[in-house]
Amino acid sequence: MLNQLTIFELTARLAKRDVSAREAMQACLDRIQRVDNQIKAFISYDAADALAQADAADKALADGAKHEQRPLLGVPVAIKDVLAVKNQPMNCGSKILGKFISPYDATVIEKLKGAGAIVFGRLNMDEFAMGSSTENSAFQLTVNPWDTSRIPGGSSGGSAAAVVADEAIATLGSDTGGSIRQPAALCGCVGLKPTYGRVSRYGLVAFASSLDQIGSFTKDVRDTATILGVISGHDPRDSTSIPQPVTNYAAALDGNVKGLKLGLPKEYMIGGLDPEVKAAVDAAVRQLQKLGAELVEISLPHTDYAAATYYIIAPAEASANLARFDGIRYGARVDGTDPIELYSKTRGAGFGAEVKRRIILGTYVLSSGYHDAYYLRAQKVRTLIRQDFLKAFEQVDAIVTPTTPTAAFKIGEKSDDPLQMYLSDIFTISCNLAGICGLSVPCGFMKSPKLPVGLQFLGKPFGEETILKIAHAYEQSTGWHQEKPALEVVNAG
Ligand code: GLN
Repeated sequence: MLNQLTIFELTARLAKRDVSAREAMQACLDRIQRVDNQIKAFISYDAADALAQADAADKALADGAKHEQRPLLGVPVAIKDVLAVKNQPMNCGSKILGKFISPYDATVIEKLKGAGAIVFGRLNMDEFAMGSSTENSAFQLTVNPWDTSRIPGGSSGGSAAAVVADEAIATLGSDTGGSIRQPAALCGCVGLKPTYGRVSRYGLVAFASSLDQIGSFTKDVRDTATILGVISGHDPRDSTSIPQPVTNYAAALDGNVKGLKLGLPKEYMIGGLDPEVKAAVDAAVRQLQKLGAELVEISLPHTDYAAATYYIIAPAEASANLARFDGIRYGARVDGTDPIELYSKTRGAGFGAEVKRRIILGTYVLSSGYHDAYYLRAQKVRTLIRQDFLKAFEQVDAIVTPTTPTAAFKIGEKSDDPLQMYLSDIFTISCNLAGICGLSVPCGFMKSPKLPVGLQFLGKPFGEETILKIAHAYEQSTGWHQEKPALEVVNAG
């Protein structure tokens, strides 16, 4: 079935003209029809628009479009509800945006379209990307395709579930503290958070601007490399994007990891690590060694402070960023007798509990009297965390860790306990604080129920090529990524 193909496989068949982009798009739409009443990855999608884009791709293919110039021509790619797609709704998983329609394309969307992708659908997420389970969406509960009583991870839960359920060939998400890598690990696909500044954030609704980065979910590492090559690059509309040349990431995947040094941070082997997750990661490390990588024990001494630091900086930035949702400029409005009443009624009705918690926390740590004790201190600790990594990278080419401490948990299991929820990102948040790149790749399964486990590679700033190369060599030598959930069967029951 065409919806099950990777980008690599689909574009090869499209180039031979043995299948059409319309057929590929239709296969995804049919799959959504069949399974999404259960998975609920999509908040909405516009089938007619998607098919019209597919027809345009078929026309370009018939006119002899070059694959090198349009590497995603005819590939259906679905989008997290936090990225602006011109003339499509954007809600960020929240009620507060009401019937907002994006007036322009985010830079990454412009680039995807320029490369020929069929950009479609709005994927479910935790409200404003705050969460680790997608349970904070104001719309619906997305479930894990491997076990529908469990969460898909978050905040890009819809993006991960859609790829794993074969409802799209690839998807985009955003990662502020783990929101790509954590759901990729829990659903069993490849998820990449690029280096801060690698990908333009123009058109991404900001959660925490110094941490946010856009990345992809794909069925294998090569597809991740292909998408990164398309979406990255300097953009004058995002002053934090960096004018670093874009490499041919896919060409770097030569399967050779001989002599590469991989760091194992001793601080990541913590008590809360599930023994089965640990066993899968240990086996992956042995496999990497077999492939010729050299293992080095390293230390990231400030790891313990990462969660506390993140939960000061991210809410502080969020409290400032979310001030714009005031009922005047965008979306929904609840009227009041004066502007203050209008603001507070709109925000009171429009935001969910977790978003309110973050705004309150963030406003508190920035308020005069507490600013120096919390925010300024957190910024200093953040620098120490970054230095830990830069120092480690003097010794090693990449770092390998579990992506998450446990496999997917049950729906509702942590929703009443924000601290427990925050701890599910314990291995992913340091990467954002340090501004480096990170990738999660499937590395095995829990036995019962069968749930995917993720392996995380952390790379130097702009070291995407290296982590992609290592992850690709690992993936190709194991084949975990080829396992699929038995969704149809679950559906029939
Ligand atoms: N789970 C983390 C949070 O709730 C990270 C979210 C993200 O990366 N967007 O903030």
